[in-house]
Amino acid sequence: SYVGIHLTGFRDFLLKPELLRAITDCGFEHPSEVQQVCIPQAILGTDVLCQAKSGLGKTAVFVLTTLQQVEPVAGETSVLVMCHTRELAYQIKNEYARFSKYMPEVKTAVFYGGTPIAKDAEILKNKETHPHVIVATPGRLNALVRDKYLRLNSCKVFVLDECDKMLDQVDMRRDVQEIFRTTPTQKQVMMFSATLSQDVRPICKKFMQNPLEIYVDDETKLTLHGLQQFYIKLDEKEKNRRLNELLDELSFNQVIIFVKSTLRATELDKLLRECNFPSIAVHSGVSQDERIKRYKEFKEFNKRICVATDVFGRGIDIERINLAINYDLPGDADSYLHRVGRAGRFGTKGLSISFVSSEGDQEVLKQIEKRFEQEVPEWPEGGIDASTY
Ligand code: ADP
Ligand code: MG
Repeated sequence: SYVGIHLTGFRDFLLKPELLRAITDCGFEHPSEVQQVCIPQAILGTDVLCQAKSGLGKTAVFVLTTLQQVEPVAGETSVLVMCHTRELAYQIKNEYARFSKYMPEVKTAVFYGGTPIAKDAEILKNKETHPHVIVATPGRLNALVRDKYLRLNSCKVFVLDECDKMLDQVDMRRDVQEIFRTTPTQKQVMMFSATLSQDVRPICKKFMQNPLEIYVDDETKLTLHGLQQFYIKLDEKEKNRRLNELLDELSFNQVIIFVKSTLRATELDKLLRECNFPSIAVHSGVSQDERIKRYKEFKEFNKRICVATDVFGRGIDIERINLAINYDLPGDADSYLHRVGRAGRFGTKGLSISFVSSEGDQEVLKQIEKRFEQEVPEWPEGGIDASTY
């Protein structure tokens, strides 16, 4: 019985009324578990290192708690958020826009590569447009700092989303470190990911002081309960035909199809469109403007099928995706977990199907099952009941 049980609401966090109004407008009723654990500490300025499974609202933890703390001063940036891909930076910037709707004095900007740096410099030069909150990818941000367009001596909060990914890539880690060194010693640091291996944790903690540490050490708890996972064994040359059949048979709202290279994304997308499937491709082989345009098109439900490389494997949140297909299985269990997590956001139902075509794939599938202690069964002949996903 629920009698006597106090359900925590966003009101209990003592957030600014402007934020509470925006939260209500977003349709958020109750904070998720990770939000309940992290928000009260994070608004007090505590460092946070947080692992929590995909789709349960890690973004709102740092967006809400940084907006709660921000005191906008003209010409100064006090909140810095970095992530590993441009589309994710763009998405996070939009989350800031949603939640700061009633805080018109707070200015946010997003900076990433592949676009003219002069535009970013222009925004930073002008006190009227200089952002209080910056969301960025590390390469471009470091360039802006190096070329003295941006000074971070007023930075009060430093956030890394998908932190394990950012810190295990050598060049990205170097950019992050260089940027970090230009910020004041006294500041809050928060980092988030669905995957935080034992190896990466001490690296993260080097940036922090006495952080609140939230881990999911029982990896079986990382699997999404609403998500049904299957595999299909086939030859490489059967993949196109089988995909075609699946797209015909399955009832999905939106589907994301992962492939292993830019070239394969382009080719598969072309093939699907020739078969009259409304698809788009998102990968690093198209211009940045075009990438964001396609991301928007997909997010706004103008296209139902997206063929993507791993640039879309993490962090991207598209509500209507209820099917994720690994046309090419990724090389490791972490990538798999992030990819299939694109379906079944915020506890909703979803389906994932992975093509297994080589011995290598079979090995990866075994690793996945072992790590998450979950059997990934073979996709049954007649499919499954559409009402279950
Ligand atoms: P994560 O980063 O943990 O993978 P996201 O922050 O992308 O997850 O959130 C996943 C989805 O859940 C987003 O669409 C977000 O708007 C939604 N969401 C987050 N928190 C809540 C909440 N408390 N109530 C309802 N929806 C929420
Ligand atoms: Mg996220």
